[in-house]
This record gives sequence, structure tokens and C-alpha cells, in this order.
Amino acid sequence: MIRENIEKVRGNIAKACEKSGRKAEDVTLIAVSKTKPVSMLQEAYDCGCRDFGENKVQELVDKWEQMPKDIRWHMIGHLQRNKVKYIVDKAYLIHSVDSLRLAEEISKEAVKKHVTVSILVEINVAGEETKFGTGCDEACGLVEEIAKLPNLLIKGLMTIAPYVENPEENRQYFEKLRQIYVDIIHKNIDNVYMEQLSMGMTGDYEIAVAEGATYVRVGTGIFGERFYAGL
Ligand SMILES: *Cc1c(COP(=O)(O)O)cnc(C)c1O
Repeated sequence: MIRENIEKVRGNIAKACEKSGRKAEDVTLIAVSKTKPVSMLQEAYDCGCRDFGENKVQELVDKWEQMPKDIRWHMIGHLQRNKVKYIVDKAYLIHSVDSLRLAEEISKEAVKKHVTVSILVEINVAGEETKFGTGCDEACGLVEEIAKLPNLLIKGLMTIAPYVENPEENRQYFEKLRQIYVDIIHKNIDNVYMEQLSMGMTGDYEIAVAEGATYVRVGTGIFGERFYAGL
């Protein structure tokens, strides 16, 4: 089941890339494994998945301990400052940096542990009140401030699009995130390496790929429905 799902998602990504003149290897599929047991992660691993996404610190740490060490763990959920210390040396990329205070805490812990932490700045493109992420107008300023902090590398931007029936409705938000990304590149800010756009989930990843996603985060489409609150 998991194998078929992964093959289907990879096939869809390849098709979406082809249609938009992109290379399939420029898009990385993150298997979002939150709430799922390690046996299921192992199945995905055996199909070649090396990028896994989790949204809770404790769960990421538990799975990090149990799973092979060549996995790249992506922290995609809202991150509380008091939990940063547990994951700075375990997360390959933190997608959900939405404030200067959080970035400062990550920087501080990274200095302490002598590591460099790669992050994405999360932007609430649709302006939904229920979601975290900085507003579009503040995005550039926030990136400039975060870029001054030691032991942090800003690799790009992330957004969580609204839940919609028709994924076409989210195309505008993916376009918008890409536009902000291009604007930031043109500012040539020191210490900012804009190369990643993390956008698109099970319902809309093909559209996100068409709009330039380099990371898509797919949970349900690989592991099936989640049976308890996972968001
Ligand atoms: C849960 C989650 C996903 C995956 O959602 P699906 O719809 O199951 O693919 C992607 N991104 C974030 C930030 C999530 O929390």
C-alpha cells in the first residue's frame, strides 16, 4: 500500500515537472509521517524515502532514535521556543520559523551545540488567522533580521496553503510565495541562500510543483488518513 502510494506520488510529481519544464530531481518529496508508527516509516524508507516530516518535537526525537541515521528529518510544525534545544542537532531543516524570537532561540542553541541549523521562513500567504507564519509584507524584513544571527542558514520559504475543495484555488498562494522568494533573491541579502520553496500537500502538490515547489510535504497521500489530531 505505502509502496504503491509513493510510486503514484513520485509519478505525479514527475508528470507535473514535465508539464512545467522542470527536472524531477529538483523536487524533493517529504514523507510526512506524523502520528504514524515507525514500522510504516520503515516501509517508506525501504522504498527509498530519506526525507521525513514531523510536526512535534517529541515525536521527531523518538523516531530519530529508532530510525536509520541517513534520514533527513524535517520539522514542519509550529515550534515552541522551549523545545528548540531538543532538535537543533537532529532536524536537517526547520520549515516553520515564523518570528525573530524563535530564530534567536534556534541561533542561541545552535551556537551552544556548535552546529549550523538550516531554516525556512514560514509565511502565511493566505493571511489565515488560524495559521502561524509571518505576513507577506513583513517577510523581507524578517529575513533580513534573521540573516544577522550566527549559526543559522536561511534556505528559503515555506507556506501552508488553506484547506480547499478545489486545489486550483491555492495556485495564487503558491505564485505569491514564489514572488516573495524572487523579491528576496533580488535583495542579495548576506547569508541568505534562497533555494528552497516548501509548498504543497496531498491535495495540491501537483499545482505547487507547477508553481516552483522544491519540497512537497505529503502525508495522507503516502500513509493514509491520520486517526488522531495530527495538525
Ligand atoms: C500534516 C502536514 C502536511 C501533510 O498533510 P497531508 O494533507 O496529509 O499531505 C504537510 N505540511 C504540514 C505543515 C503538515 O502539518
